[in-house]
Amino acid sequence: MAVLIAINLVVIGMALPLVMGSPVSTAAQHAQKYFVLQAFGWGLILAAARLRGSSGDWALSFAATGAASAAQWQMAQALQSWLGPRPLRRWVASWCVLGPVGFALLIDSIPLRMAWYSACHALVIASLGWMCLHPQRPAAASWRYLMAACAVVMGLSLTTRSYLASQALFLEGFTQDSLPNHIFAIIAQVCGSLTLVSMLVAWRDETNQKLRDLAMTDQLTGLANRRALLQAVPPMQALAQRQHLPLAVVLIDLDHFKAVNDQHGHTVGDEALQLLGQVLQAQMRADEIASRWGGEEFCLLMYADHAAVERFYQHLSTTLHAQSLQKLGFALHLSAGCALHSTEAPRPFTALLQQADHALYTAKNQGRNQLVLATATSPPPMAPVPAVAHP
Ligand code: GH3
Ligand code: MG
Ligand code: MG
Repeated sequence: MAVLIAINLVVIGMALPLVMGSPVSTAAQHAQKYFVLQAFGWGLILAAARLRGSSGDWALSFAATGAASAAQWQMAQALQSWLGPRPLRRWVASWCVLGPVGFALLIDSIPLRMAWYSACHALVIASLGWMCLHPQRPAAASWRYLMAACAVVMGLSLTTRSYLASQALFLEGFTQDSLPNHIFAIIAQVCGSLTLVSMLVAWRDETNQKLRDLAMTDQLTGLANRRALLQAVPPMQALAQRQHLPLAVVLIDLDHFKAVNDQHGHTVGDEALQLLGQVLQAQMRADEIASRWGGEEFCLLMYADHAAVERFYQHLSTTLHAQSLQKLGFALHLSAGCALHSTEAPRPFTALLQQADHALYTAKNQGRNQLVLATATSPPPMAPVPAVAHP
């Protein structure tokens, strides 16, 4: 049984990097190391069994506990990447260290050292299961529950093993030919395979999420892109309607940005756009959205009435002015147009956008560096004013 487990893990450990290719995420790398270290640990157990009773047996057994603990630590790292940072990680680290240390200290008693190590291993696995059940960031339930179920079964099996070993009933070593060892080996095999499935699904979900993020993010500024904003519109409008919240569509355009490119070059122009992206990001609330609409235009959707948008704009333009002077060596100014969603007479987003665009157009015509608030009765876009061309 132990030989089968070792062969199985070696094959998985070698196949995973080949099948998953490179580069893979940090979490996936940790998961790959988990299987390699598990395979290494079982290899050491088998080698130790051949040297039973000698000092080599002790050294190899101790190394095997170290490899198994290191494997669990890798899995904890992978779960942390997939599920978010967890304080529980410190406990996992402690049990991963205490397991092999106690094994070495209890070297004179095979039952006690086996009992100690199995108990520590059970605690680590229970902690990993707990991590799966309490993610800190959104993650699919399917693989988390499967991994948690494996953790429960493995934890119970290891606890039983620890008890049996402490009573010196059947167990002396992992490779001994006894019924509990056979049952344990079958459970370890099945749980190992299901953990592999969970890990592959977690990796696939992570990759899909990265692709989704890429499709929704503006590469230069890191803000949401037009597609992401358009997706956010219906739920935000519905919430505003349901809870009678004010909702504002704000269009922002950097003033004389072409001149920035012409005078300082496109790289500095890009830095200016990134700076505005950072300032917007810092000022927006988590439930609102700031997107790069295109070029040097940005579209915001925020739960705010006219007064709140005005305060927002004042703060935004003061911060941008100060930070651009400090970081770029010249001042950036922006114009903005705002349209308000009305819960009494809701209009489609495109109508609000058109109204905000008209207000922005007015702001440009009135001398730039200002916010214009559209009223519900704002006329549709006027004929172009020849003095200033707005794209
Ligand atoms: P106004 O005050 O009327 O808005 O004038 P403007 O110069 O800002 O507007 P205009 O539409 O004439 O020019 C927009 C400029 O923005 C032209 C274009 O090269 C620049 N731009 C658009 N996207 C990017 C970008 O990703 N990086 C850089 N560096 N420049 C960009
Ligand atoms: Mg502009
Ligand atoms: Mg523009």
